[in-house]
Amino acid sequence: MGYLKHAKMNTSFNLLQEEIKKCTKCELCKTRTNVVAGSGNPQAKIMLIGEGPGYYEDQKGVAFIGKSGQLLDKILAACGFTREEHVFISNIVKCRPPENRDPTPAEREACLPYLLQQIELIHPTIIILLGATALKGLIDPRARITKERGEWRTWHHYLVMPTYHPSALLRNPSLKRPAWEDFKKVVAKYRELVDPNHFSAHC
Ligand code: SF4
Repeated sequence: MGYLKHAKMNTSFNLLQEEIKKCTKCELCKTRTNVVAGSGNPQAKIMLIGEGPGYYEDQKGVAFIGKSGQLLDKILAACGFTREEHVFISNIVKCRPPENRDPTPAEREACLPYLLQQIELIHPTIIILLGATALKGLIDPRARITKERGEWRTWHHYLVMPTYHPSALLRNPSLKRPAWEDFKKVVAKYRELVDPNHFSAHC
C-alpha cells in the first residue's frame, strides 16, 4: 500500500473508531461503562470477530481481556501471532449486553454497520469468526457453528474460518483440540497468502 493511501486509511479508521466510541444507536449505550470499538493492528491481515464485550472488556474498553481473551492470546501466541502485529479483534456488538446475555436482533442490526466498515477499511485476507453469534450475525442466521467450524468459506471475497469462541473452550475443554485444528489451518493459509516465512513453534 502506498504511503498516501496508508495515511488516508488510518485517518478514516481513526474517525470510525471515534464515532463508535460516542455511539448511542441502541439500548446498550445506557448500561455500558465503555464502548469496546476493537483493538489490534488496523493494517493486520487477520481479523477476529467475537460476540460482544464482557465485564472486563466493558470496564477497560479493550476487546478480549478477560479469561476468554487470555486463552485467545495463548492460542494466537501458539500460532506465532501477536495482537500488535498480526490481528485486529472486533465484535458483533461494541457495548456489553447486561449480564452477558446474547445481543438482541435489534442491537446486532444497529451495530453491524460499524463492523462492516471496519472490515472494509482493514480489508483483511482472513476473517476468523469466534462462535455462533459471530457466524450468524455476519454471515447466516441459520448457520450452526458445530457444523460450519473448521471449513473455509468465502464471504464477499473474504476468506472466512468459523471456529469456537474461547469461552466455549473454557466451558468445554474437549473443544480445544478441534479449535486448535482450525487455527492450524489459519496459520497454513497465512503462510500461503500473506507470509511464507511466518514462524510458529507449534504448527
Ligand atoms: S452496541 Fe453498537 S449500536 Fe449499540 S450503542 Fe454500542 S456501538 Fe452503538
